[in-house]
Amino acid sequence: MTAPYPWLEASWQRLLATRPRPAQALLLAGPRGVGKGALALAWAQALLCEAPLPDGASCGSCAACHWFGTGAHPDFRLITLQEKTGKEGETRMAVAIEVEQAREAVDYVQLSTYRAGYRVVLLNPADSLNLAAANALLKVLEEPPLKTVFVLVSDQPRRLLPTIRSRCTRLDIGLPPTDVAKQWLDSQQLEDAVTLLALSGGAPLDALKWADDAELNERRSVLEGLASAGEIDPVTLAERWKTIGIQTWHTVAYKWLGDLLAVKLKGSVRFNHDFADVLKQLGTRADLPRLLALVKNHADAGRTLMHPLNRSLQQQAWLIEYRHLFD
Ligand SMILES: [Zn+2]
Repeated sequence: MTAPYPWLEASWQRLLATRPRPAQALLLAGPRGVGKGALALAWAQALLCEAPLPDGASCGSCAACHWFGTGAHPDFRLITLQEKTGKEGETRMAVAIEVEQAREAVDYVQLSTYRAGYRVVLLNPADSLNLAAANALLKVLEEPPLKTVFVLVSDQPRRLLPTIRSRCTRLDIGLPPTDVAKQWLDSQQLEDAVTLLALSGGAPLDALKWADDAELNERRSVLEGLASAGEIDPVTLAERWKTIGIQTWHTVAYKWLGDLLAVKLKGSVRFNHDFADVLKQLGTRADLPRLLALVKNHADAGRTLMHPLNRSLQQQAWLIEYRHLFD
């Protein structure tokens, strides 16, 4: 089996070389949208495979590989964000991996394995472990039971507890070279790979996601609002943005601010080339200290994405700050 994506080949080979003695706590760190999750799954399957290929990769056809493929391998656990049901019956993603999930994983690794080989616990996104959950895991990460491997995946490794980080062997996965990413996107029949790649800051899997029409429409709705800086009525606009995913809103607005900053400092647009003209006008007009303050606040807000109840109010407040950039 080759690497899940062509740009991961070198990292994949480095992992396979460790298969005889794998790190018991591995941290795959790097930006969003580069395939860390897929790499972690491929590595888990390689460890669980009962007839691995000479290079250490999984065979794809043994019983263990079949179970893994159906998500039913008894020696594999994925600890991730769970869907929750809100008060009004709506489903939403939890913002943290909860302590119960961590405790359950700790109990799980104390049991004997079902098969004779490894047991793999995958934590993704590991930076979503809340403090109690992280603390619950510390001990088993420090001294994992025999044949137990933890794989942590994180876009924001600095958010991990230092005590967790220091227990892990870290493998950094960077952005692929542009030509490799573009070639791969072309092979996925993606139109306008160059624009989408720029929008996603060079992360090919994010670019693919952008290609999803719904998300592109949401992006357009946010950007059209931001582009009309002078005439914005914050209340109306926040109302209009209600249906947009909060993560999408946050990312799109962040890149827009990033572009304003790039115009202000370097005279060029980095992400939203299709809005270059209006960005150049607005960027030139923007007040630099206020812009820097808004960028910082926006990044901070991303860590605790807005509570849905206050969302409109917070977006209105945000828009008022935004409008002041151009006073
Ligand atoms: Zn196999």
